[in-house]
Amino acid sequence: MTKIVAIDGPAGSGKGTVASCVAKACNLLNIDTGATYRCLALAALRNNLTLDDKNEIINLSKKINVELTVDGKVYLDGEDVTDLIRGKEVTGIVSQISSIPEVRETMVDIQRKMAEKHDAILEGRDITTVVFPNADYKFYLDASLEERVNRRFKQNIEKNIDMNYDEIYENIKARDYNDMNKPVGALKRTDDQIYIDTTNMEIDEVIEKILKIVQGGKLMNLKDLYINFFISKGHKQIPSSPVVPENDPSVLFNTAGMQPLIPYLMGQPHPYGTRLCDYQKCIRTNDLEEIGDKTHHTFFEMLGNWSLGDYFKEESINYSFEFLTKVLNIPVSKLAVTVFEGDNSIPRDEVSANVWRSLGISNDRIAYLDASNNFWIAGTSGPCGGDTEIFYWRSTDEVPTKFDPDDSRWVEIWNNVFMQYNKDENGNVTELPKKNVDTGMGLERVVAVLEGVDDNYKTSVWKKAIEKIEQVSNKSYEGNEVSMRIIADHIRTAVFISADPAGIKPSNTDQGYILRRLIRRAIRHAKKLEIDIDSNWEGQIASVIMDEYKKYYIEIESNREIVLDVLHNEKVKFNRTLEKGLREFEKITSDITDGKLNKDLAFKLYDTYGFPIELTIELASEKGISVDAEGFAEKFKAHQELSRAGSTAKFKGGLAGTGEMETKYHTATHLLNAALKIVVSKDVHQKGSNITEERMRFDFSCDHKLTDEEKTATEDLVNTWIAAGLEVTAIEMPKEQAVKSGAECMFIEKYPDTVTVYSIGDVSMELCGGPHVKNTSELGHFHIQKEEASSAGVRRIKAILD
Ligand code: ATP
Ligand code: MG
Repeated sequence: MTKIVAIDGPAGSGKGTVASCVAKACNLLNIDTGATYRCLALAALRNNLTLDDKNEIINLSKKINVELTVDGKVYLDGEDVTDLIRGKEVTGIVSQISSIPEVRETMVDIQRKMAEKHDAILEGRDITTVVFPNADYKFYLDASLEERVNRRFKQNIEKNIDMNYDEIYENIKARDYNDMNKPVGALKRTDDQIYIDTTNMEIDEVIEKILKIVQGGKLMNLKDLYINFFISKGHKQIPSSPVVPENDPSVLFNTAGMQPLIPYLMGQPHPYGTRLCDYQKCIRTNDLEEIGDKTHHTFFEMLGNWSLGDYFKEESINYSFEFLTKVLNIPVSKLAVTVFEGDNSIPRDEVSANVWRSLGISNDRIAYLDASNNFWIAGTSGPCGGDTEIFYWRSTDEVPTKFDPDDSRWVEIWNNVFMQYNKDENGNVTELPKKNVDTGMGLERVVAVLEGVDDNYKTSVWKKAIEKIEQVSNKSYEGNEVSMRIIADHIRTAVFISADPAGIKPSNTDQGYILRRLIRRAIRHAKKLEIDIDSNWEGQIASVIMDEYKKYYIEIESNREIVLDVLHNEKVKFNRTLEKGLREFEKITSDITDGKLNKDLAFKLYDTYGFPIELTIELASEKGISVDAEGFAEKFKAHQELSRAGSTAKFKGGLAGTGEMETKYHTATHLLNAALKIVVSKDVHQKGSNITEERMRFDFSCDHKLTDEEKTATEDLVNTWIAAGLEVTAIEMPKEQAVKSGAECMFIEKYPDTVTVYSIGDVSMELCGGPHVKNTSELGHFHIQKEEASSAGVRRIKAILD
């Protein structure tokens, strides 16, 4: 998709200089709209035409061939005329010919064609905004008349244009904010333009500001910048995994970029090599209570890079530093870091601290913290090590010399974990022969840094969602921050959970329970903002969010209707219990004599009627009744632990989900997929899979409930293949070849150029990261336990190997 930036403003506002510098920095074609007019003027002069030859000029305008290059050169019919078109005599005829409407039309046409072909920055009064209403970014630069005249005066001296100060003053004043129909008048700014008053700003500052906005936003997308940077450092990009882990029962959601990589951090070779990078969708339910602040989201995107036994501390820190300070131009003066202070078995990490010092981070900006802050280990034993975290001063207050990690104006943006040691069961620590690096940087937090705002929700990431909430609530963000942040955040997370291939629906357990809570909490805050709950507010907000993300995550586009259904249905359901709950609430409270609502009743309202505690408290307070919120919290926690127990039990089965049984289920999944294609339809495709030690779950596209015959035939076929002792082999091949050879794969466009294809005899061929058994004879007996609907057009099979 072409990216277009438009810069408008009156003469002398600095737009030309700014545009050409921004164009250079972002590698955009610089379309100085004045240059096309000047080219025509030059061509007219060369043909001895004057304004009297109006028709000739119109004809000429249709014939001239103007070309612009990224480095600012202008070609007229193939000749470099960059210097020629700046002369005064040209300027004279420009204003004359641009007053001919037909000329204007053809010139605009030339500019439009150039812009549509290239990633372009368009600069010029009125033309940009009028011609390109859909530019990705629109800026309006302005300055006081004096300042603009001064600038033009200086510029003219540099360009050797002979005009005295008064002439320039009159000239610019005459062109000030005239109406559109006067061709040389500047257009007044419009609401959708980003307005920058450049009066007291150095041009460099203006450029920096614009760069921050366009590079932080979708123009030079941070994701692209990050991935390109690490690819240039020899990394391979790996696809983002679904938010619901496919083969890792130890967690409900991917909580970090490293989650799907655990098997490889534990030693399994990765098919793409030892240097990896990605952007990963993460969901942290642990952060649920933080939502409403400026820096936490339940769903967020994490940018990550990994070394699997390749580079270590020095390169890792250097890469991070180079990316932040050279690619993103973040000033070193606003950075600070933490490193591991060591404990009785592991020394203080002076290696990392020294690398930071060598890069110019002062001792005042390095804090040594203990294991509770700066040490990573999964559980109690296994690979582990200290980490170093990078912080940014996001406040407009003056940056203190000394770094205080407890001061919330320092925001953590990036965490580099160094897996250096192995801890055995007895707590003995030894150095790992192969050390890994795992880093994670929060996208939303860094975009806020780049866009110069101290609130993630004020960035381009959230702009449209917040605007939509402002619109449906008819309230402004200012003064309603917490509720609006919660609604935006929870709807976005609900979008990603319900669009996930795992097909999660609101329920009272596991991921479904989280989904339900998020939607209900969003509804609760929508009520607080007096949004009309029965209107399609949730669908409108979700749609805005889906539009922003569909480019990056294909499940968002393909499951759009499912997402909208989930949100709507849960809203309707909650509204139903809400009514009953309110009646129950009336009954309960009419019996209360001591002014206190006890924890059991509060919990009943929550458990039976889905009342979040805040709602109960608010309703009670209207009746002068207090709620035992602490008691409720205890009960609630106990209840949560119960529902979490499922996943904790699974955790023991193996951190990476690569225990013996899981491995078998992986292979059985491929067989089931192949069998369904034969028995049910060749159009069956995998839509999701989830494996635990005890069972496999497989979602696939299918328009009907399987018949008993189909189920039996599928089972039989899988068991025949198991009995046949088919060999399982893995080969790496170019992606194209894999596709040509018909290998199965869920998200083909997300895979890198080289992929691993697992074949089972000649019955199955699938792109996959493994692990698998060597021979199907290891699998035992395959049995389908259950077949049910998962979502529209998707069926789900639960099966076991016994
Ligand atoms: P914090 O202490 O601020 O909650 P964290 O220590 O939990 O951060 P890490 O687990 O190190 O963060 O995650 C790596 C990066 O991901 C962080 O540096 C931060 O930029 C980002 N991040 C972490 N949690 C969130 C969140 N809830 N929302 C947005 N970004 C986050
Ligand atoms: Mg955290």
